[in-house]
Amino acid sequence: MTRPLIVANWKMNMTLEEARGWCAFWPKDWGVKKRAANVVVCPSFVQLLFVQGRLLEIGFELGAQDCAAEAMGAHTGDVSALMLKDAGCHYVIVGHSERRTNHRENDPMVCQKSIQVFSSGMTPIVCIGETLDERTKGKTHEVLTRQLTRSLPHDLKEKNVVVAYEPVWAIGTGKVPAMDEIKNAHAHIFEVLTSLGWEGAKPILYGGSVTSDNAFEILGLPFVGGLLVGGASLIPEKFDGILKAAEVF
Ligand code: PEP
Repeated sequence: MTRPLIVANWKMNMTLEEARGWCAFWPKDWGVKKRAANVVVCPSFVQLLFVQGRLLEIGFELGAQDCAAEAMGAHTGDVSALMLKDAGCHYVIVGHSERRTNHRENDPMVCQKSIQVFSSGMTPIVCIGETLDERTKGKTHEVLTRQLTRSLPHDLKEKNVVVAYEPVWAIGTGKVPAMDEIKNAHAHIFEVLTSLGWEGAKPILYGGSVTSDNAFEILGLPFVGGLLVGGASLIPEKFDGILKAAEVF
């Protein structure tokens, strides 16, 4: 397995002081000495510029949690992909289920956002995943196929894209699918990406209640190329435990 990609999604958490404290946990050059994973940290927009330098010193990359679907202009309160690039981001999460639910974002909007991210020279982390109801009805693979087909731009296949499989019911709940379910979902995503011409898409991340206790087992599954971590990324000791799980791969 190539080095896993571990993404920390801080969501709407951390004051600036807390963010600085988080960064202070990691020794300078951590990435050079212990680099077992590629690590991307996605703070809130307002913290990007403050933590960027420190994250780089540690050896982590910078990402954002969202961006506007438009390039620029009269969109009060929105932040463009180009602004995020300017702030030092290499990755942008798009289509997180909290955006899809709380802000009614749909697949075409997610696709527009991916295009903006690509156009600004960054990599989108496109989130997909079924709800509990869809899972109960046995529609998981159907939902994943639909979201992948509609959320990825069809004419940019030469670009690199990261897909994150995040079952909505597993996010922040402490519930994790059976390992077989994760394995099957990832194999399905890989198949769909290949059928859509995105053979180069990599890696496919798993997200949803990842902890240092389950990270090792999940990272060992076929087609799992990394993790998207919410709650457990906020406490450096816990996040460090997850990164340690990646050292074996
Ligand atoms: C997420 O927000 O993408 C996520 C996976 O959250 P958590 O790890 O808290 O379930």
